[in-house]
Amino acid sequence: MLVETEGKKIALDAGIKVKDQDMEVTGLPKLSTGVHVDAALIGHAHLDHSGFSPELYRRYNTPFFMTIPTQGLADLLIKDAKKVDPQLPYERKDIDGTFNKTVGVPYDMEHSIGSVKFTYYDAGHIPGSAMMEIKTGKKKLFYTSDFKLDETRLLAGATVPEGRFDALIIESTYAKKYHPPRREIERKIINIIKKTLKDGGHVLFPTFAVGRTQELAMVLADYQINAPIFIDGMGKTASEITMSYPRYVKNAGKLRNALENLKPVGKNKNEVLKEPSVIIATSGMLEGGPAISYLLALNEMKKQEDIDSSVVFTGYCVEGTGGWLLQNKQMVKLKPRKEGQKEKQVPINLNVFYEPLSAHAGRNELFTFIEKLNPSKIICVHGDDCEGFAAELKENGYDAVAPEIGEVIQI
Ligand SMILES: [Zn+2]
Ligand SMILES: [Zn+2]
Repeated sequence: MLVETEGKKIALDAGIKVKDQDMEVTGLPKLSTGVHVDAALIGHAHLDHSGFSPELYRRYNTPFFMTIPTQGLADLLIKDAKKVDPQLPYERKDIDGTFNKTVGVPYDMEHSIGSVKFTYYDAGHIPGSAMMEIKTGKKKLFYTSDFKLDETRLLAGATVPEGRFDALIIESTYAKKYHPPRREIERKIINIIKKTLKDGGHVLFPTFAVGRTQELAMVLADYQINAPIFIDGMGKTASEITMSYPRYVKNAGKLRNALENLKPVGKNKNEVLKEPSVIIATSGMLEGGPAISYLLALNEMKKQEDIDSSVVFTGYCVEGTGGWLLQNKQMVKLKPRKEGQKEKQVPINLNVFYEPLSAHAGRNELFTFIEKLNPSKIICVHGDDCEGFAAELKENGYDAVAPEIGEVIQI
């Protein structure tokens, strides 16, 4: 999103379209030629919010603003994205250049770009995530990026800003969906683990590296699980980065204990499957990472020894991804090893569950947030049905729109 005010063009987030937060890059935004971006405010590390930053740097030498944990986590995810998709137009030097041109912004402190003032607020979405208030001489704007109002085990929940806003740009991910109570989901997860372990099986959690891995670790630490809990993939590094900024989580001591409870998997992957265990592995949508190799190994165990294992997704899987395929068709897709080979699909005979520990605001949280801010205009973005959300807000008396890509809105 590009805001043009007081002679400046400021990007609010700079993302790329990804299938999976950890993997599989699919699309770049189109910027009309001749556009110059004077600065970019990055809300959080997820690639759909940060992944275009090195391209802005490469083209315009844009300065960036983000919180300090976002710098570390975005660096991890962007470098991984470039590894997975070498087609991305920027190079390693552009990624490094981006973070050299980044100003670390704490929450609740006003900064400025020329005469435009802005303040970051805790978004409660992933560690370091921010929402932003943008103020000019005449207008005040609020952009949620991705947010969660309710607290989770990992984070304290979004800060609600004070004051009158001329416009609110709000994410719409779960505009039509209520989240079930957290404790209910947690109990279901624990029951799946207990039953599977009792039957001599393993429980595999394909999990997003940033945020979800740490949240899940905290859930597991709170219940008695009589089996080793392994962690494999990028979640290990993401956890280390998160722990280096303890002020950005709700309870750093509890998080540290939860992470110490996990056994990192090194080279010896066989150890993981020796006795019944719990495995947290990237990627969250089975689009790569070690989760796939564990899935295949567990499927083989079922075939050879009739051992029943479980796969539990705690995050949403986009249609067409490996995770979606497993949940809907009981198949897993294997990427071709060599060019010219076709993608292979293999049937999987494991118990598959979806127990979401969402990091986005659910329907209730979205409406509560809007009621509290009561903005003059609402701009619905980042959802499958932004039009539906805007239409519903209109019925409730709000001035709401769901803009098309490329559309210009005057405030
Ligand atoms: Zn996000
Ligand atoms: Zn997002």
